[in-house]
Amino acid sequence: MSETIDMANRYLFNTYKRHPICLKRGKGCVVWDEEGREYLDFVGGIAVCALGHGNPVLAQVMFEQAKELVHVSNLFYTRPQAELARLLVENSFGDKVFFCNSGAEANEAAIKLCRKYSNEKYGPGRHTIISMFNSFHGRTMATLSATGQDKIKQGYEPLLEGFRFVPFNDLEALGELLDETVCGIIIEPIQGEGGVVPAKAEYLRKVREICTQRDILLIFDEVQVGMGRTGRLFAYEHYGVEPDILTLAKAIANGLPMGAMIAKGFLADAFGPGSHASTFGGTPLICKVALAQLKLLLSEGFLEGVREKGEYFQRALERLKQDYKIIKEVRGKGLILGMELTIPGTDIVDGCRERGLLINCTQERVLRFLPPLIVSRKEINHGVEILKEVLKKEKG
Ligand SMILES: *Cc1c(COP(=O)(O)O)cnc(C)c1O
Repeated sequence: MSETIDMANRYLFNTYKRHPICLKRGKGCVVWDEEGREYLDFVGGIAVCALGHGNPVLAQVMFEQAKELVHVSNLFYTRPQAELARLLVENSFGDKVFFCNSGAEANEAAIKLCRKYSNEKYGPGRHTIISMFNSFHGRTMATLSATGQDKIKQGYEPLLEGFRFVPFNDLEALGELLDETVCGIIIEPIQGEGGVVPAKAEYLRKVREICTQRDILLIFDEVQVGMGRTGRLFAYEHYGVEPDILTLAKAIANGLPMGAMIAKGFLADAFGPGSHASTFGGTPLICKVALAQLKLLLSEGFLEGVREKGEYFQRALERLKQDYKIIKEVRGKGLILGMELTIPGTDIVDGCRERGLLINCTQERVLRFLPPLIVSRKEINHGVEILKEVLKKEKG
């Protein structure tokens, strides 16, 4: 094993199950390890590096802004933050933005806003948030409490009160939990960590109706699927259903840590001065990078290209399904694709890495593909070729 890996194992908490390689450099959709081995990166920093590695435009923006101003705190106004908020609002359902540093923090903000709004309007006691089984909303205590997966909650009890869970895409089950204590419903339009499981359109439409009727706030967690991943800037656009609150992070600044919450204007008063804050949230440096990234995502033909490449990739994976019985289902939208297997996926993931393709596996059996959005058809072909070889070898 390499010196770096030994060092990391000695000095870092062992909180991650890591691949036994140490990555050093990247360009576009390719990364290289310390030994100079090359890998096609279809993990993309877990849906973070939308514009790939070593993007020259973003690097230049980072460099220029770093010389100009990195951070001053939210005691002051800065232009990049205002401009980024404006561009997000102009291209979404929302009116107001709050910046933070991660997906979990964006969801924390959403949970707090839900409770605050409800508390101010209806008084105490209306604080329940309904979440879905198999959802993932983060690892802080509140977002862990909001997450519908027991395995990552064990040992951290007592969790935060006020979360209830229902099966995803099950309207009847949801109906049974609705009572006067409910102030919010949090949903990933496509469950990412849950195994790339899309919401049904009819389900989201009905949930929206219920929320509107009962003044329950609908939160869409688009931390993983927002910012162009599905071939639309936001995944909710595919459904024609708007949330009251949207959370973003992962791809928003191509790898610099940032989270954001976008909400409708009627929620503005619930988050007044002193109600919520973040020291690092929305620094000029990160906002400038996010702004450049967002402009590129919105540039002519970019998202259309993501949709086309996504369909191309999905068809290629569907074709593999005809030849390999261990493939149960292929699903996803744009460039978040999942391949559910009938067996655990670890050997396939390892086999791909050994042949120069990085992918990951969620829920034990779902291979997940999250290439940078700038991936080429040639790279998709190459990735599918490697996967095919591994499937052939593993399960002949
Ligand atoms: C990754 C993720 C989070 C948590 O984001 P962090 O930046 O790791 O805190 C929350 N929700 C979803 C849907 C995610 O995919």
